[in-house]
Amino acid sequence: MLTQNLGYPRIGSHRELKKICENYWAEKTGYKNVLQVGKNIRHDNWLMQKDAGINIIPANDFSFYDHVLDHSLMFGAIPKRYNEVIMKKGNSELDLYFAMARGFQKDGLDVVAMEMTKWFDTNYHYIVPEFYKDQPFKLFSTKIIDEFYEAKQLGIITKPVLIGPISYLLLGKEKETGFEKIDLIKNLLPVYLDILTRLDALDVEYVQFDEPFLTLDLGDKEKKAFEYVYKEIRKTFPRLKIVLATYFGGLNNNLDLTVSLPIDVLHIDLVRGEDQLNDVLAALSDKTILSLGLVDGRNIWKNDFEKSISIINQAVEKLGKDRVWIAASCSLIHSPVDLGNETNEKNLPQEIKQWLSYAKQKVEEIVTLKKLVNNETSASALQKLEENKIAISNKKTSALIHDVVVKERVLALKDSDAFRLNTFSKRKVKQQKLNLPQYATTTIGSFPQTVEVRSWRAKFKNGVITEDEYNDLIADETAKAVKWQEEIDLDVLVHGEFERNDMVEYFGEQLKGFAFSKNGWVQSYGSRCVKPPIIFGDVSRPKPMTVKWSAYAQSLTSKHMKGMLTGPVTILQWSFVRNDQPRAETCTQIALAIRDEVCDLEKAGIKIIQIDEPAIREGLPLRKVDWQTYLNWAVKAFKISASGVKDETQIHTHMCYSEFNDIIQNIADMDADVITIETSRSQMELLDAFADFNYPNEIGPGVYDIHSPRVPKREEMVKLLQRAKAVIPAEQLWVNPDCGLKTRGWDETKKALIEMVSAAKEMRKDAEILIPEQHISN
Ligand code: GLN
Ligand code: ZN
Repeated sequence: MLTQNLGYPRIGSHRELKKICENYWAEKTGYKNVLQVGKNIRHDNWLMQKDAGINIIPANDFSFYDHVLDHSLMFGAIPKRYNEVIMKKGNSELDLYFAMARGFQKDGLDVVAMEMTKWFDTNYHYIVPEFYKDQPFKLFSTKIIDEFYEAKQLGIITKPVLIGPISYLLLGKEKETGFEKIDLIKNLLPVYLDILTRLDALDVEYVQFDEPFLTLDLGDKEKKAFEYVYKEIRKTFPRLKIVLATYFGGLNNNLDLTVSLPIDVLHIDLVRGEDQLNDVLAALSDKTILSLGLVDGRNIWKNDFEKSISIINQAVEKLGKDRVWIAASCSLIHSPVDLGNETNEKNLPQEIKQWLSYAKQKVEEIVTLKKLVNNETSASALQKLEENKIAISNKKTSALIHDVVVKERVLALKDSDAFRLNTFSKRKVKQQKLNLPQYATTTIGSFPQTVEVRSWRAKFKNGVITEDEYNDLIADETAKAVKWQEEIDLDVLVHGEFERNDMVEYFGEQLKGFAFSKNGWVQSYGSRCVKPPIIFGDVSRPKPMTVKWSAYAQSLTSKHMKGMLTGPVTILQWSFVRNDQPRAETCTQIALAIRDEVCDLEKAGIKIIQIDEPAIREGLPLRKVDWQTYLNWAVKAFKISASGVKDETQIHTHMCYSEFNDIIQNIADMDADVITIETSRSQMELLDAFADFNYPNEIGPGVYDIHSPRVPKREEMVKLLQRAKAVIPAEQLWVNPDCGLKTRGWDETKKALIEMVSAAKEMRKDAEILIPEQHISN
């Protein structure tokens, strides 16, 4: 029995990679220093895994920005627009690489970056390979070979990790018509063979091919490509040991295909694909080794040793010890690095910490599991089992986690709790009291979080200023924002969210059942890391969270002040979620907490309340068959949060970050009175979808893109609104930017919003002329 690791975090235990890269981009440090930090991280990772006792240690899991981009560079899939960057004297391979990731604006060149998108359903983002018809591939970067050699020099024979050829192609995007990316396999395979030849010359033993697409729905062409590729590799390298890694789900209808491939080790995800074990055991061909992905690579909870041991024993019984390996479910890049760095009791008290395991601890868990199954009765292994049992068992009963009141409240929910009192058409009549004009203008909630605003929060946290002083500063900033919104004549105002650090953290910090780590950083993309809140227990709201600031802001104006909340699905989606109950259950608990907040806002005189759900689309399961189940509970959670109010109270929601066309029915089912939505990058497409579908409620298609500092002109927005009006009745339309303004500066924000208000007024002029005609025809 061997242990293996599929991949280890490359950000460094103190985010060294982020710091050095950002310094390099700011031209504060040189190329050699960047390479050195990369080397240090790799060495630390390899040695740590070796010391821990991992048998098969990965290489080429390190990356300066993104491992998919590494592959594009390796295969020479470099879009032509970067030729100028390559040609420029003094530019290194690393500069080309970063240019592809981030764009290159220097020395008179202006080349845009490659697109980035989410890595399956994780919060990691990869750089999308660009493919052209007749796309050539040839070995360009030898990183994988260099890193294998580098580890060998340290005395460690690693297992180089490659994204498998089919998954690599499927991750990419066709940039012109007339071909299918999967057809490029004939051009691509020779490069894989070339790389394997070079690794073979260095006496490589195992090579890992990541093929996560085997857990997704595949077409016939793709299935054939799988058969073709692995047969060719096997034919060319009869002695090479091929580890095929699948993760993020079960193999299900791809099981037969997968076990028919001529590989040596099959890795399966037994966290996401928990119920596939028996099928895989039954189908596995004679000699293949099965690698059990037992330790959750995507969450932070300790492994349940007793449960894992029984699974391992089940596999051993069928396959024998030599054909069973132990591993984490997927690469550990989705876990924070080292729980040992969480030394602050206030952030993470020992009682919670005992339930957690970061990447380094997961590596140790893998090794301990092997020892325990091998009946190694070393004192330390047995002690670890004992500790593990205690941690797991007190998680089942801890008063920190379990709150009877919350559980009973969820049980007592009635279907009607997820419905407003009346249908939208009736609510709309009552909401006329709000007295809003046609093409009502509003913003999405946040105003610029300037360096100054953030410095107040830092000073308050560090004790440099008192809470009162901090609150006074925020109050002033809020008052200024309110006054300015009145001056430019926006219709529905916002308080600006100056008091918030982050739209999930701000709520998590005030809810019971949440904890916040100090060092739980996970790579999101490139040098950007996120530190998701940890939902460890039953969620409840001890007291109102936003009422004070919203009521204060409302007191400053006679216009409507919009209350501003983050929705339950988004809070869930952007956190580490407890694994001892279904996600739907946790989401419902959060929904009830938000519902209480919505009701309290209404009581405090707030008549319009927005519940943001930007993450609802990204929570979709990978396989379409699972979509509806998710959408049912996600939509219901939103509705529970929104449905405690009177008909007169207008509920808004906001969505961004993705295309929503394929879930438009479910968006309608959310039954928000108004949805504001990001559309500026594909306006027409989205509007068409809303029009074809006959979206029943009100909608504010973002009229300008807040992701760029560019100030849009009134005429552009008028044009967009006219297009919108052509497909959606004017009385359903709102006018707003496409997302919150916190990342923008005040100067551009002011200019843009003044233009926006004026565009809405222009539209109303048209409407006035139209209204009488409509009356006549009525
Ligand atoms: N209300 C939030 C804001 O304006 C919404 C953020 C988001 O959509 N991601 O910042
Ligand atoms: Zn947004």
